[in-house]
Amino acid sequence: NTTRVAILFGGRSAEHDVSRASAANIFRSLDASRYAVTLIGITPEGRWVLADAVNARTAQALTVPPDGPQIVLLPAGQGRALVLGDGAAAPRELTFDVIFPVLHGPNGEDGTMQGALELADVAYVGARVMGSAAAMDKDVAKRLLRDAGLPIVPFVTMTAAAPVSYEDAVHAVGCSELFIKPANLGSSVGISKARTPQEFAAACDLALRFDGKILIERCISPVREIECAVLEHADGEVKASELGEIVPASSHGFYSYAAKYTDASGASLHVPAQVEPGLAQRIRKMATEVFGVLCCESLARVDFFVHGEEVYVNEVNTLPGFTNISMYPKMWEATGLPQPALMDALIAHALARHARLR
Ligand code: ADP
Ligand code: MG
Ligand code: MG
Repeated sequence: NTTRVAILFGGRSAEHDVSRASAANIFRSLDASRYAVTLIGITPEGRWVLADAVNARTAQALTVPPDGPQIVLLPAGQGRALVLGDGAAAPRELTFDVIFPVLHGPNGEDGTMQGALELADVAYVGARVMGSAAAMDKDVAKRLLRDAGLPIVPFVTMTAAAPVSYEDAVHAVGCSELFIKPANLGSSVGISKARTPQEFAAACDLALRFDGKILIERCISPVREIECAVLEHADGEVKASELGEIVPASSHGFYSYAAKYTDASGASLHVPAQVEPGLAQRIRKMATEVFGVLCCESLARVDFFVHGEEVYVNEVNTLPGFTNISMYPKMWEATGLPQPALMDALIAHALARHARLR
């Protein structure tokens, strides 16, 4: 009784390469005696292609073959997919029990893929459409959290059509040092800090290259970056992990893309984080509240900023990084759930949910 799992990776977002690394790590941690895994790469253009699972066990990052056989997931197919031939060969059918979308950012983590998987009527790991969309859009997420009385960093939203001046932004968030970021992205792509009108203009231009809507936030400084992993089990029980802390190298200024992925010493990760027990308990409780408020399911990493005694919810990642340096699996490991068992829990949740909702 093996479970047939399809891993989706790559994708159309700026986090394509991060996804390839996350997928390699997830593939390795799936117990080969219990899971029959098919690897489905998504090209930057959005084509689904069959990827090589033979040489992938040892890869640091899975490869999306640009000219690989195309895969089409059938609407209402309960996990049935066609592998298209080159024109001469007839299409071949594949069936999956569950799909693990290991995709970060727009078109993977934001509800679009989840909508496609709903239409395919297949079990899949992670939040459904609403939770994915609500958490991905930092503007929407912050409004929902604020409405629920959860603490967020003061921010204003801006679009190219309705620009905000540096002075107005400073006035709105109560600080002359600002963080500017795209509303819908991740991995720190398009994010920068600004302390002057010139820096502000450049930061807004950069962020607007990635999204039509951007956020301008108060810069929290000094800041401790504390994260909590949340997992929903098949029976509906929602658990928060031990906390983790990220300390970006001072040379990077903040936890930038380079600090995250390209510079091996760009940040130090501490799991469990050294946080006073009362504060840690408060953060863990907040993490499960956030999970509920944003309609998350299955898994999410909830990221906090801690400034003295003050705690702010920064953001929620519904398909957090799973690279071999990523925090989500590390935090569960530190909580007594090694990654193979974490995979079992995620897949069991997906199968139970699909059976329940059909
Ligand atoms: P992403 O989804 O790309 O990870 P984040 O909102 O988490 O976006 O921002 C990335 C990083 O930028 C954070 O981990 C932190 O280092 C820094 N940062 C973002 N917003 C702020 C802020 N308001 N104050 C201080 N640092 C921030
Ligand atoms: Mg993020
Ligand atoms: Mg982040």
